[in-house]
Amino acid sequence: MTDQLPAGPFSKGDTVPNEGDYVCVPCGYRHHYKPGEHFSECISCLSGTGDGHEDFLEGEEMWEPVQPVIDEKEQSN
Ligand SMILES: [Zn+2]
Repeated sequence: MTDQLPAGPFSKGDTVPNEGDYVCVPCGYRHHYKPGEHFSECISCLSGTGDGHEDFLEGEEMWEPVQPVIDEKEQSN
């Protein structure tokens, strides 16, 4: 059973499947995306543009979701 959500990595222009923080693979820049938005170029290292890393030009996958840290603390109720 593989019923998992898409885990990326995602390319510039892809639709964001899940809200959360995504990290630019080449430089580690993090950006928060919401569902329905589209992944953009990285404003930090310019990956996804012609000025960025050669290996991460437009159309290349470069955004990976940051796995949420499960906090053991429970909210008081
Ligand atoms: Zn970057």
